[in-house]
This record gives sequence, structure tokens and C-alpha cells, in this order.
Amino acid sequence: MNSSLIGKIEKARRYEHELDRIHFHKADIEFRGEHDNYVITLDGSNWHCSCHTFATGFDTCSHIMALQRIMHDMVEENARYQHESPNVVEVS
Ligand SMILES: [Zn+2]
Repeated sequence: MNSSLIGKIEKARRYEHELDRIHFHKADIEFRGEHDNYVITLDGSNWHCSCHTFATGFDTCSHIMALQRIMHDMVEENARYQHESPNVVEVS
């Protein structure tokens, strides 16, 4: 194998663990919920979900909150906690 390609592969393996290098500006995500599949979109710092909870005016839902945790280092700072109530108790 070409030695420069080996170097690229090694770099990719390092990048894989450095998630703050990756920044999502936009994303369309399908989420398999417990009752249905939902489409979540991220546009800058704005989240939207096709689920019932989001539509009823909460402006957030379990799907968005899960993605905010998973993608935390890879989205804009304003998108990390958007809509999440500061009164929500941290559960781990
Ligand atoms: Zn949802």
C-alpha cells in the first residue's frame, strides 16, 4: 500500500476520537423511536423533530435531547442545550 495512504489512514484513526474537530452545520437524521421512526433536522442551532411531543409545543423531545448528548461536541454551542430546560435534572 502507498505509504502516504497509510499515513492518511493513521490520521483518520486519530481523528475518529477527536470529535470536536467535526462540526455539523446541517443534518437530516432518522431516529427509530419506541413507537415510530422520526425525522430530526438540525439547521445551524435550530432543531426540529417530526414527533408528536415536538409538535405539541415543547420545542424539544427525547429524540432531540438524545442527539444533543450524542453530537454535543459536533454542533454549535447554541445547539447543545437548545430548548432543554435548565431545570431538567441531570440523570446519568
Ligand atoms: Zn422527537
